[in-house]
Amino acid sequence: MARIAFIGLGNMGGGMAANQAKAGHQVAAFDLSKDALDRAAAVGCTPVASVTEAVRDAEIVITMLPAGPHVLKVYSEQIIGAAPTSALLLDCSTIDVDTARKVAGLAKEAGYAFADAPVSGGTAAADAGTLAFMVGCDEGDFARIEPALEPMSRITIRAGDHGAGQAAKICNNMLLGISMVGTCEAIALAEKLGLEPERFFEIASKSSGQCWSVSSYYPWAGPVPTAPSNRDYDGGFATAMMLKDLKLAQDAAAKAGATTPLGAQAEALYALFGGLGYAGRDFSGILQMLRGRLDDLKKD
Ligand code: NAD
Repeated sequence: MARIAFIGLGNMGGGMAANQAKAGHQVAAFDLSKDALDRAAAVGCTPVASVTEAVRDAEIVITMLPAGPHVLKVYSEQIIGAAPTSALLLDCSTIDVDTARKVAGLAKEAGYAFADAPVSGGTAAADAGTLAFMVGCDEGDFARIEPALEPMSRITIRAGDHGAGQAAKICNNMLLGISMVGTCEAIALAEKLGLEPERFFEIASKSSGQCWSVSSYYPWAGPVPTAPSNRDYDGGFATAMMLKDLKLAQDAAAKAGATTPLGAQAEALYALFGGLGYAGRDFSGILQMLRGRLDDLKKD
């Protein structure tokens, strides 16, 4: 059984750390929030007082932090140099590609194996241990990384070298943001044309319009019972989180010289929806904005 340091025990990290403890590993857990530490203790982790204490004798260090600046600060000031160089460092946060590469460079220079390993799947998958991991790492390190992620994962794929995991994550989520807006526009049009959205689901989910936003996350209540549309768009994947990922994609596109006009449109639409007071609602709630029915939707 491995000694794991787990840093960042929020909506995602809390469930992920619990699954490592459930698998029998010793999990030294740290978060700035006392509540998060208490929740981690209740699921079998050992709460500690600082990042440096958590990583001191760790074999594996896992971070699940909000954004790039947190990741850079925690690695450069509290993990690198404090953890044994034999420790495997895994950052599962969603951050920009440049910061991921910068942290990988710092870690490598200090003698560590590091991977960016962002995830797909929300809090339900984090709790269930069924996340999909997209990994950017040195090829030779992958054989150590896959089993380290196993208690939290349904599938782990090496995307390429450092930064490639984050690149895969933001490209995937840009596609998801666009496909959800497209699905919502199609439903709003169907409704105006007198076609029932439930009947449109039956057809689109078996036709060339089929995609994950239709089949697994239909934004109209009814056809997909597990979708947040059935819960007034509560929980799920917050609009603010989708907006963060779309901004990362647009920043990356600007730097790389890629043309992503639909990604830019999706970013603008989610910024509008969030700005109107719905940043905490599930991102598929944008359907109500496109239907002109925001009055029916509860604000945050
Ligand atoms: P969250 O805000 O719930 O959790 C982040 C945690 O990090 C908080 O508990 C916070 O106290 C802690 N933290 C911040 N700075 C810290 C520090 N210096 N030291 C220790 N702890 C610190 O966020 P989340 O929803 O768990 O998301 C975490 C990451 O996962 C983000 O990068 C997000 O984009 C990504 N992600 C989220 C989802 C989702 O559905 N929520 C899905 C996929 C990926």
